[in-house]
This record gives sequence, C-alpha cells and structure tokens, in this order.
Amino acid sequence: MTAPQSPRDDIAEVVLSAEEIAETVDALAARLTEDVGCLQPIMVGVLTGAFVFLADLVRRLDFPLEVDFVEASSYGESTVGGEVVIRIDLTRDVEGRHVVLVDDILDTGRTLSALRSTLRKRGARSVRTCCLLDKPDRREVDFEADYVGAKIPDVFVVGYGLDYAHGHRNLPFIGVLRTELYQSTQA
Ligand code: 5GP
Ligand code: MG
Repeated sequence: MTAPQSPRDDIAEVVLSAEEIAETVDALAARLTEDVGCLQPIMVGVLTGAFVFLADLVRRLDFPLEVDFVEASSYGESTVGGEVVIRIDLTRDVEGRHVVLVDDILDTGRTLSALRSTLRKRGARSVRTCCLLDKPDRREVDFEADYVGAKIPDVFVVGYGLDYAHGHRNLPFIGVLRTELYQSTQA
C-alpha cells in the first residue's frame, strides 16, 4: 500500500516551526496571564482558522476563563463600511464581561476591527484582541491587535489552523505553499 499524500509536500518554505510556534504561544500566554488573569475573561476564537491556536493558548492559561467561538466573514460588499457578516454567533452574552478575541492572523484588519466594535456595542466591559500572526503590510483599516505573536511579510501562509481551499489546517507548523498550487487552481 502506498502512503497517503501529505499536506507537507505542498509547502515551499516553513515560516514558523512547531517549536517557534510553541515559544510564541508561551510568550502570549504570559502576557495574557498578567493582563486578564484576574478578570475571568471569555476567550473568543474566530472560526475556523483560530481553532488550533486557541486550543493551545487556553491550555497555557492557568486561571478561570470561558471559551466561545464566532465565525465572521469580512469578504463581500457588506464589508465596505467596516462591517463583517457573522455566520456563527457567540453562545454567551458578553455584557459586562472581559473578552479576548483570538484570531490566527491579522491581515487587512477588517475582521477583528469589526468584531471588536460589535462586542463593544453588546456591552462587553473590555475587548482585547490577540492574533498569532500579523501581516502589517496588508492593513486596510486603522487597527492594531493588543497581542501579536509574530509579524510576517505579505505572504499567504497555511498550517496550524490556517487553510488553503479548506486544506492544510492540520499541519503542525506554518508555511508558504508552493506557487504552482495557486497557479493551477487559478487558471
Ligand atoms: P482580515 O484581517 O483581512 O479581516 O482577515 C483576517 C482573516 O483572513 C484571517 O482570520 C484568515 O482567516 C484570513 N487570512 C488572512 N491572511 C491569510 C493567510 O496568509 N493565510 C490564510 N490561510 N488565511 C489568511
Ligand atoms: Mg479567519
């Protein structure tokens, strides 16, 4: 029997190894512990990309917290005014609560910026934003996350929750796809 094809075969270059990710998540966890360790925060993962990061992050946070998720899309006409479409909403009422929005990567800034506004409008006591990766060159709105794991250049990355066409989320590291994979699907 031949071995199944590995998503690793599609990677041209590793941007953050599993070890580097672990160190980065450790550092973020230390900062969050200092800032929200006494606030019983709701840690809200932005689906789907943040599911791996959030799972690793909360296991390094040794204080009371809750976990929730939101799925939002910043793509389409409705995003022009800085709004996002919420496809899966939180299960919790955030009124009076401290919230940490957790996303995989900060790109144009539209998603986290709009989600933060939405949660503030719902009466959250505070909304902090945390992302593993940041591509500052791609920003389209005036937004910076409170906690950033690592800044990367303007490249499309996959792995550790991040997908390309719904695949590659299960890679334990973050890497750049081989260019011919984009070109073959864009044709
Ligand atoms: P934005 O900051 O543009 O509103 O959106 C951020 C979202 O776009 C992320 O949560 C992620 O889903 C997606 N995204 C942005 N850059 C990349 C990337 O390099 N790779 C992948 N897989 N998704 C990305
Ligand atoms: Mg996302």
